[in-house]
Amino acid sequence: MKVLFRGGQIIDGTGSAPVVGDLLIEDDKIMKVGGVIEGDFDKVVDCTGLQVCPGLIDAHSHNDFFYDRDDAEMFYKPFLEQGITTQITGNCSFSPFGIEEDSAYKDKVGGGLFHAVKPGSFKEFKERAKGRLYVNMVPLIGHGTVRISISGFDPAPLTPEQIEREMKLVDEAMEEGAFGGSFGFMYEPGMYAEKDELYAFAKEIAKYDGIVTVHPRACSKVALGYPLFGTPPHIEMALDEVIDIMEKSKCRMEYSHLIFTGTSSWPSIDPMLKKFHDYNEKGYKIAYDNYSMTYGASVITLALPPWYLALSEKDRKKKSTLLKLKAMIFATKKLLGLDWCDFTIAYISDNHKEYEGRIISEIAKEEGMSAMDMYLKLVDLSNAQGRIYVDKYYNDEHIRRLMEDDLSIFMTDAWVEEAGVQNGAAFQCFPYFFVRAKKYGIPVEKVVRKMTGETVDRFRIKERGYLKEGYRADITVIDFDNMSVDISQPSLKPEGIKHVYVNGTAAVENGSFTKAHTGEVLLK
Ligand SMILES: [Zn+2]
Repeated sequence: MKVLFRGGQIIDGTGSAPVVGDLLIEDDKIMKVGGVIEGDFDKVVDCTGLQVCPGLIDAHSHNDFFYDRDDAEMFYKPFLEQGITTQITGNCSFSPFGIEEDSAYKDKVGGGLFHAVKPGSFKEFKERAKGRLYVNMVPLIGHGTVRISISGFDPAPLTPEQIEREMKLVDEAMEEGAFGGSFGFMYEPGMYAEKDELYAFAKEIAKYDGIVTVHPRACSKVALGYPLFGTPPHIEMALDEVIDIMEKSKCRMEYSHLIFTGTSSWPSIDPMLKKFHDYNEKGYKIAYDNYSMTYGASVITLALPPWYLALSEKDRKKKSTLLKLKAMIFATKKLLGLDWCDFTIAYISDNHKEYEGRIISEIAKEEGMSAMDMYLKLVDLSNAQGRIYVDKYYNDEHIRRLMEDDLSIFMTDAWVEEAGVQNGAAFQCFPYFFVRAKKYGIPVEKVVRKMTGETVDRFRIKERGYLKEGYRADITVIDFDNMSVDISQPSLKPEGIKHVYVNGTAAVENGSFTKAHTGEVLLK
């Protein structure tokens, strides 16, 4: 099937300025780029006044946990409607594969945050994904998953023999074409791993010239897991840990979702960006990805220390416990530079829909109690299972800086929720980058580069990310001038994403989702 994209502004993914011309695809390949293309075509897509780009790539996703569900479609539709054709998956230490056949801990894969329908080896994942994917996936193997395979959530250090078993799982995935691995130092069980285990994992990935993405141990000035006083900002210590692993393993590193939670963390932006650049000048490969939103999703227990969560319900209600807890939450909040007005409720329970989308400080006022008591009440009502959105990851000026920095690429880190308020990043994150670019005067081709060519270069993805003859036909056609989002309505479809082709098949046509699922598991 020959499809001609006629008369658009071609943005090829290199960062070069748009050039008006035609683009021809045949089946799943790009045949010709530029100039006036004559001939017989099965379909002609008029792109006058529009931008024809390589399919956009989301550099950080968790969508590998939804592909084999019966209701998979709803989890991919809003990403395609953002123009995304490929997602880097297996992040934050979680992949739905990398588990021994006879592991006793298969039900724990996903770390409580995600649920894998049928966890198995990477080979099994590739088989199972055939014909089911709406977008292409660039698989990474999660360190948390391989550790769960061996010892579940056990915090005990692994023995050398157990580490060897972990490395066998990593080897299998890398041999079979995974692009690298991921760490998640804020999650169980990755947070428990000792240095020898972390070095071994990164070295194993480096052996195959893979990349390791890292959810760092701290994304704020103060984080649980570090002493409260007498240290440098924890977010900077967390970057040093990533650098240490990079130096020891010689592995290429991607610092995942660079954010600076709470205003107290913002002074770390300069020294951290400088460090990223310094290490690149020294010849290392370390860079990062970021959001277009100033907020992100979290769990309602975010502000609660582990010792409190470990108590029985009766002990939690003790006066002395509550006093100690409240003092701690108060101090942490102050140290972070966050307040109750920065917490929006996403979900409490099916019986408490009235709180969804509400800000904690405002509900507290209405119910005539302190915000702290309101927060604890919501934790109880949700059985400690609630979800929240936390604001002040950055301000608009910070996002502008990151967008203009050479080392950033763009991502969503979002998934579609089954209940409650949606994360706007799952619906609007990429279009919002375009909207911001218009506002800041950043050329459209620079934004596209950070969603295409730059990302494939960094993850070493073949035949994608550029509009080149012989490359695979992932195409996103946008209307940059009329791109718009309404971030006050998080699940509202953005305006300005016209056509999205995945491996030569239209998944979005004139802005409408076609239900096509022609994605593939990509291999290194
Ligand atoms: Zn993460």
